[in-house]
Amino acid sequence: MSGRILIAHDGVTARIVLKARLSSLGYDIVLTANPDELVAQLSANVDAVMLSGQIGGHDISGTVERIRNHRAGDGLPVIILEPGISRDARIRLLSAGADAIMECDASDAVLQSRLRNLLRRSVEERNLARDLAQSEVMSFAEYPALNALSPGRIALVAATGPQSAQWRETLSVLMRDNIEIIAPETALSDIRRKPPPDAVLILQDPANPGAARQLLADIRCDRDTMRAVAIVLQPTPDTERTIRLYDLDATDVLFGAFDAEEAVLIIRRELRRKAVNDQKRMALRNGLNMAVRDPLTGLYNRRYALSQLGNIISSAESNGEEFAVMVLDLDRFKSINDTFGHAGGDEVLIEIARRLTAGLRNEDFVARIGGEEFVAVVRNCDPLAARAAAERLRRAVANDDIEFAGKSVRVTVSIGLVLSTAPGVELEPTAIIEQADRSLYVAKSAGRNQVTTFESAA
Ligand code: GH3
Ligand code: MG
Ligand code: MG
Repeated sequence: MSGRILIAHDGVTARIVLKARLSSLGYDIVLTANPDELVAQLSANVDAVMLSGQIGGHDISGTVERIRNHRAGDGLPVIILEPGISRDARIRLLSAGADAIMECDASDAVLQSRLRNLLRRSVEERNLARDLAQSEVMSFAEYPALNALSPGRIALVAATGPQSAQWRETLSVLMRDNIEIIAPETALSDIRRKPPPDAVLILQDPANPGAARQLLADIRCDRDTMRAVAIVLQPTPDTERTIRLYDLDATDVLFGAFDAEEAVLIIRRELRRKAVNDQKRMALRNGLNMAVRDPLTGLYNRRYALSQLGNIISSAESNGEEFAVMVLDLDRFKSINDTFGHAGGDEVLIEIARRLTAGLRNEDFVARIGGEEFVAVVRNCDPLAARAAAERLRRAVANDDIEFAGKSVRVTVSIGLVLSTAPGVELEPTAIIEQADRSLYVAKSAGRNQVTTFESAA
């Protein structure tokens, strides 16, 4: 995976050495030594920022903060590559919003796996932002503010009970999240219990170092936990294992003795990022849903029906699939409203939508295209099967009383049916619906509660 990395460093030689190193790993490099230029470059299609030394005479944590406060720098991976970083400096950099703090003497393989790991996530987040911008979601800002981030569930997996208990004690002083201790032997089944944890902190057991990787792999391929924050602590740094952990999408790998303050800064940062991403995904899902669904009945709407019908027509034209389109209109629905009121009429519409949905197979669909008008499309069907499906829907509406609010009413429906292979059929979404509508009109004139099939002479 390649990407475009913006490198900022005051020293000309250091900049060039870094550029040569990352270029040889396959990345496109943009160089800068000027903090204003750095901020301006953030919007220019950069996938990550790498900082080293001073930038324009300012220390790195100030620069990290500046990047984070810029709209284009929000969420962009910021990597620090420095020699001999003190613990205080690490904490300062993490507090400022750095994602990865690495020593200059890290091997190319480790550096590359960490970059791959961060860039993968950055690409995913940017795709999410793009989808959200393109969708019809009115305003992501309307979603509840994330300042009120509710406490997360954190699972601690360590080989020994006393170790976990000690971690939990140290962590709970610093955070209000719910921390649960999990034994390695039962980790996977415990983690899969509902609700899934937001974060998993795994201590690599020196006696069984492969277990952490195994657990991480399992977490990443389970639907409920694949997006959990997963941090591995390696008491003794192990390059090979670190690379594999990053490639398995570990959120972060920490080395040496457990440093609660550092761990908390990382967990907080990642929980927050996860909450934002989860919320964006939900907004996208709901927003897309709203764009294609009718709010009263939950059926697809007219817009969806037309676009889906367009897809079905295209594939039928290339693979010869036969399908059928029906327009369904309830009979004398005005009288239902007159008797039971508009709200009563709505209850009836909801029940009819349920019956029509239940009467179709998964590959078929029904949409509400008007007040009490529906369109249903039946796929892969010969004329006989299409007529049978239309009859089935007619009976599903007419055969049983609809009960609501202690009342009971019998409703019937008239149906116009068009077979895609019939002579004179126009294979275009609006036109084919119009042809079904013409047949529906014939069914109404002939006494209602019946199916009429389109014939070109009709
Ligand atoms: P026909 O058998 O000829 O179709 O008679 P009809 O009374 O059903 O006539 P038409 O289809 O022209 O009228 C539809 C009625 O459906 C008119 C309107 O009051 C009612 N209607 C349309 N949308 C809604 C809705 O969302 N809720 C309710 N309760 N009624 C609706
Ligand atoms: Mg009508
Ligand atoms: Mg009607």
